[in-house]
Amino acid sequence: MKGDAIHVIGGGLAGCEAAWQIAARGIHVVLHEMRPVRTTAVHKTPGLAELVCSNSFRSDDREHNAVGLLHEEMRRLGSLIMRAADASQVPAGGALAVDREGFSAAVSDTMAAHPLIEVRREEIAGLPPDEWDCVIVATGPLTSPALADAIGRLTGENALAFFDAIAPIVHRDSIDMSVAWFQSRYDKAGPGGTGVDYINCPLTREQYDAFVDALIAGDKTAFHEWEGTPYFDGCLPIEVMAERGRETLRHGPMKPFGLTNPHPDMSKAYAVVQLRQDNRLGTLFNMVGFQTKLKHGEQVRIFRTIPGLAQAEFARLGGLHRNTFLNAPRLLDKTLRLNAAPRLRFAGQITGCEGYVESAAVGLLAGRFAAAEKLGEPLTPPPTTTAHGALLNHITGGHVETIDAGPRSYQPMNVNFGLFPPFDHALPPDADGKRLRGPAKALAKKRALCRRALEDLDRWIGAGPLAHVPAKARPGLDPGCAPARRQGYAPRQES
Ligand SMILES: Cc1cc2nc3c(=O)[nH]c(=O)nc-3n(C[C@H](O)[C@H](O)[C@H](O)COP(=O)(O)OP(=O)(O)OC[C@H]3O[C@@H](n4cnc5c(N)ncnc54)[C@H](O)[C@@H]3O)c2cc1C
Repeated sequence: MKGDAIHVIGGGLAGCEAAWQIAARGIHVVLHEMRPVRTTAVHKTPGLAELVCSNSFRSDDREHNAVGLLHEEMRRLGSLIMRAADASQVPAGGALAVDREGFSAAVSDTMAAHPLIEVRREEIAGLPPDEWDCVIVATGPLTSPALADAIGRLTGENALAFFDAIAPIVHRDSIDMSVAWFQSRYDKAGPGGTGVDYINCPLTREQYDAFVDALIAGDKTAFHEWEGTPYFDGCLPIEVMAERGRETLRHGPMKPFGLTNPHPDMSKAYAVVQLRQDNRLGTLFNMVGFQTKLKHGEQVRIFRTIPGLAQAEFARLGGLHRNTFLNAPRLLDKTLRLNAAPRLRFAGQITGCEGYVESAAVGLLAGRFAAAEKLGEPLTPPPTTTAHGALLNHITGGHVETIDAGPRSYQPMNVNFGLFPPFDHALPPDADGKRLRGPAKALAKKRALCRRALEDLDRWIGAGPLAHVPAKARPGLDPGCAPARRQGYAPRQES
């Protein structure tokens, strides 16, 4: 193995994709995977890219769904993870589900057979040796404690979290502003705010009582035994607060003080749910202090009883899980390097993306960036209009840290259309020449966002360093993994 190899730590979805992308550029890779020498609380096999829970990569609809779009972009970028998923597909309607053992075997076999990839079964139990000048850390939500401690010491206190505490996130345009209103508590501007930063949803006493009852009765998800119970002050699930006393929420996240309902016929609110801007685009708002273990269906049912949220569309629902992740917007640069130690690049769920596909996509980007850096080529991130660019932008800066002096709010996120810059152009009319409305308009908007993304991605690929090199002339590039378009790939039928 040449001394100028790139080291990838973690042979999960992100690490394998990163290694594959690097090897595709003709660069040696050493992939360090600790299993089976040491395992995690959720992995069951020694296989690379093991799917720890569901066998679904979610929707494969590249015309109307953000994760389906991400699939298609990854295929166009020559993704190994998508190639293995397509080859191991099992019937699942519009979703891309896989035979998990076949999928993991396909990835493991490809890694083992690749002449430029060396797989070492060992734990990296601290910061990598100084002589490794280009490293990708892709150790996932269950990074081994020794490495997590070392990263925690390097990045500083509070920069590495061990649990996520996810509050639901709502698409701004689905909130009824004839009921809700913009105002910060006591009109305080605070650092970085304007005094009218929060969306407030008012509840009467009857509505509040019914809401508390629904939270207490609602169906909840239990913690796994290995997760422990990570309750600490400031991070209690709302249903636990509700159980502690009827007034607890009204003196916590739902306090009505310092807020004045401007709508003419509304009486003073007994309680208020506040939503805070979550991304710089202003398209997403999170429900402040609403981390919860309620089941997803229950969250939608109960939160839609909040005045102003009757039609709420959720970009993400709440949760509380064991999860190791960095405060990436603060710590990483635009190409996923750690500001404090640029030889270390991060990929996968440890960057604060969420999900198999998103983890692999961030691995794909990290691999490409690392390879470009090694070859002395410019590191150009994909446009933010693409699913890869939108996700990267969320991780490295698109997220709003805090408007006021509140707690840090960066939490793991799946890809969703709220992360994309809005589509500003007029949508085409319907078949009768009338303006689109309702669900037809929403679908047309998604189609337009997807079309724009794929056009911009193709331009980005076309401008990249591999654009003019024939596949067979690229060292280490398995022709089977060249961008799908160039192999006459026929897009699958959308369901
Ligand atoms: C319990 C649980 C269930 C989940 N269920 C789903 C789901 O159903 N659907 C979904 O889309 N997402 C799910 N996720 C979220 C997430 O997308 C997956 O965890 C995904 O596998 C993350 O990919 P990754 O490559 O970042 O990490 P992983 O796939 O976990 O890969 C990290 C690898 O690094 C190795 N490693 C860790 N520390 C070291 C070290 N110090 N040295 C060497 N190797 C190391 C691990 O053994 C592992 O193989 C789940 C997460 C958890 C924790």
